[in-house]
Amino acid sequence: MQRGKLRGGIQFSCPPTGLNSPFEAVPPPPAAIVPLQQDQGGACVPRVKKNDPVRVGQLIGESPTPHGASIHAPVSGKVAELIKHFPTLNGPAAPAVVIESDGLATPADPPAEEESLAALGAAGVVDFDRLTVPLAAKLEAAAARRVTTLIVNALDIEPLLSSRGRLLLEQTPEITEGIAAIRKRLDLRRVILTVDARAGEAIAAARAAWGDSVEILPLKNRYPQAVDVLLVKRALNREVPFAQGVRIADIGAVVLDVESLAAVGRGRPLVERFLTVAGREGHVKNIRVAIGTPIRAVLEHCGIRPEAGGKIIAGGPMSGTAAAGPELPVTKEVAGITVQGPREVVAPVEAVCIKCGLCVDACPMGLMPFLLSGFSEKGMLAQARAYDLFACIECGCCAYQCPVRIPMVHFIRFAKRRLSDRGGGS
Ligand code: SF4
Ligand code: SF4
Repeated sequence: MQRGKLRGGIQFSCPPTGLNSPFEAVPPPPAAIVPLQQDQGGACVPRVKKNDPVRVGQLIGESPTPHGASIHAPVSGKVAELIKHFPTLNGPAAPAVVIESDGLATPADPPAEEESLAALGAAGVVDFDRLTVPLAAKLEAAAARRVTTLIVNALDIEPLLSSRGRLLLEQTPEITEGIAAIRKRLDLRRVILTVDARAGEAIAAARAAWGDSVEILPLKNRYPQAVDVLLVKRALNREVPFAQGVRIADIGAVVLDVESLAAVGRGRPLVERFLTVAGREGHVKNIRVAIGTPIRAVLEHCGIRPEAGGKIIAGGPMSGTAAAGPELPVTKEVAGITVQGPREVVAPVEAVCIKCGLCVDACPMGLMPFLLSGFSEKGMLAQARAYDLFACIECGCCAYQCPVRIPMVHFIRFAKRRLSDRGGGS
């Protein structure tokens, strides 16, 4: 198969130790905090009130749109509180439901078997790309454009994270079921698995399960190739002119990650996550954790103690978002958990661009990061937009390479947020 080459990006040398770390179940929390907005589809409408009894998988927040993703109880017990404004990771505050667990994990009645896209939304399944989007909405767009190629993404989004590669090994049957379910919804002629070339055991498991029905494409570690728009280039050797408004579905493909596919394959509402937790000095664990579990409880389970002056990142150090504190819960938007010590935290600096061009060489989207960042910092939003601000995937390669440590992604995100608030988003 002919592969496309990734422009820019960074090859990290960290060993893939997490691929050998089996998922450990974190005990369900005594109280789960479940925000009612956990993806780009908007806030869900509460469907429970204080003191209502709930079971695992019961609907507690309903999507306001037909192909949005609803939200379900991750533990059984009773609703202790409805919070009106709870901070979310990537957007404005949203309502949240606090559930006091009875420790019994009593399941709700299973949903009726249904093949509609709306059923995936009702089960709360999302796609875990750079931004978390409702899976049904993504598949609806794919069906409307008669997509025929499915790219199964088992590549982890950051070098320190390894949950996708591990999930491919541990949940091959569920992922197989998920692919079969997508085949019923899309007229697929080709399925390609992209996977870290170092995940030998997982690749062998996939080969044994799928034979020739899935093309397997092992890829050398190169950040940030796991982002959908770049993966298409790697797998199909097709450029997606993202800045011109072209989307992956327009070229006949859809990329779905293995965690989404496993969730589809399980056929139950999405109430748990499979994540990597990375601490200092190569301390890496893969965990299976109920949504709503405070990050603090996850870190305690993993034996990681955050230090004063350090940082907790939802995701990885390159593209993750700093968590406001350890009491924030795991949600569908959390791509992993990374804990940095005070010496690893890159402090913002006042610096002037020396026009070295390293950020341009590093940018996998072919952008001019120093211009985007400079315009964004100065509030010249129209100019930043004219230089394809919204094509930036916020991978952080530019800032990582910058010798004077200009926090470019910070400025770019800020400009995007301001333009979106004014209704001028992509
Ligand atoms: S400009 Fe955006 S896409 Fe380009 S390297 Fe920087 S963060 Fe990544
Ligand atoms: S890497 Fe930093 S200093 Fe060099 S051109 Fe880019 S922003 Fe300027």
